[in-house]
Amino acid sequence: MRKTKKQIEKHDLHVKAGDRVILISGKDKYNKDAKDPKIANVKKVLKSENKVIVEGLNMVTKAQKPNPMAGIQGGLNKIEAPVDSSKVMLYCMACESPTKARHEIVDGKKVRVCKKCGQQIDD
Ligand SMILES: [Zn+2]
Repeated sequence: MRKTKKQIEKHDLHVKAGDRVILISGKDKYNKDAKDPKIANVKKVLKSENKVIVEGLNMVTKAQKPNPMAGIQGGLNKIEAPVDSSKVMLYCMACESPTKARHEIVDGKKVRVCKKCGQQIDD
């Protein structure tokens, strides 16, 4: 069956690679009063799974089997586990808080704007 445009759009997430985001649940939940409030960049968007990988957040330890033939030492590796996009919120650098974006057309280009302070999120 051919995918229609509508089906593809369903997977369009509210965040994209490079966005500043926070998590709203889990062990790396955003805490504005903490020394490290856990604001990070989106590393990768997994559209088909509706998940994102956030730099340095939601880390899990994975065992790597040694493979001398491939030059792999083995041991424990820390990697970022994908997070459901519903647990990720955009972070606005201008008003320094988690926010939602609305779309606006600026100079004929669709950009995202912070709903709280009106600052443009996209360049
Ligand atoms: Zn803002």
